[in-house]
Amino acid sequence: MVFARIAALLKEKIGLDAESIGVASIERVVRERLAACGLEDVQVYWKHLSASEQELQELIEAIVIRYRHHLLRVARSVGPAERQIARAKKICAGCAVRSECLEFALSHDQVYGIWGGTTPEDRQRERRRKRRAAAAARRRVAA
Ligand code: SF4
Repeated sequence: MVFARIAALLKEKIGLDAESIGVASIERVVRERLAACGLEDVQVYWKHLSASEQELQELIEAIVIRYRHHLLRVARSVGPAERQIARAKKICAGCAVRSECLEFALSHDQVYGIWGGTTPEDRQRERRRKRRAAAAARRRVAA
């Protein structure tokens, strides 16, 4: 069954447990990607997906964007904080819009949740680092 193979591939690449969002949800996104690729046969799509890193990224991006909140909620409910964070970061690691996501979180002061593979603490450190760098640059200009 092709959908089972795709689910196994997503598990291998981004650690996604198909049951966490429902196999039907994965099938729905796969069918959308099938249409976006101008294909009708899921077997043909599987061959395309197996051969194309870009299509794999498109599929991963479609899934994580559509089910982001659900995935992160599931991650929160299954174990201790470190495990939840590691799992969420693993999802982000395979995301094609990771840097845009992080930039959005930094520029909009998102203080909750994982954005662009970072925790609130990571982003706080990054904001402090940017402030220190900006202050150092201002001192250099003034000197
Ligand atoms: S990088 Fe952003 S959009 Fe991508 S999976 Fe992580 S939180 Fe979601």
